[in-house]
Amino acid sequence: MDIISIAIDGPAGAGKSTIAKRIAKVKNILYIDTGAMYRAITLKLLENKIDPDDKEKVELVLEDTKIQFLNGNIYLDEVNVNEEIRSPKINENVSKVAALPSVRNALVKLQRKIAENTDVIMDGRDIGTRVLPYAKFKFFLTASIEERAKRRYIELREKGYDKSYEDVVSEIVKRDKMDTERELDPLKMADDAILVDTTGKNIDEVIKMIIGHIED
Ligand code: C5P
Repeated sequence: MDIISIAIDGPAGAGKSTIAKRIAKVKNILYIDTGAMYRAITLKLLENKIDPDDKEKVELVLEDTKIQFLNGNIYLDEVNVNEEIRSPKINENVSKVAALPSVRNALVKLQRKIAENTDVIMDGRDIGTRVLPYAKFKFFLTASIEERAKRRYIELREKGYDKSYEDVVSEIVKRDKMDTERELDPLKMADDAILVDTTGKNIDEVIKMIIGHIED
């Protein structure tokens, strides 16, 4: 039987991870949050006070880093970092780290390896264009900036972070700009992806629509 690969791309706060997680459950396949991998590397660089512009040190860190997904949790060098990687500090720094060719090459390699022998739903920015260009199903999720910021604002509040709505809007706008304008593997809809605007839609509606396409 062929391996099933589902690619979900889109900007921050479009609902990718919530939706991908639920579809993984329904279809009983593996969910890989590639954003979490870029966040984990960012956490390691920050913790070790390594300047992302210091290419040599970044490469040494990449050689000496283990990232794993176990039971839906992300582990950085054997430590569960699910919570730490969602902090405002990581949000502010991750796009700079994710633009580094050495970081992208290492993580894309790892992502492809995971998807090689397993049915997978992967979300990120470049899954349909670079990581899994041959994925059978590709979706590009988006939503208005107001709605995306509102979702992130509520999420941060629930986690106890004190950020204003305006700050969340500007952080997302800045991150989208960096992700879209970077040279290597920018955020871009694949030509053969299905565009899904989640503005004003509830999660169940979007999931039903996506599953409809997959089962067609
Ligand atoms: O999806 P999430 O918001 O957690 O991603 C965090 C950041 O990681 C993005 O803003 C982007 O800079 C980077 N990223 C990426 N390529 C991916 C997934 C995430 O560059 N496939």
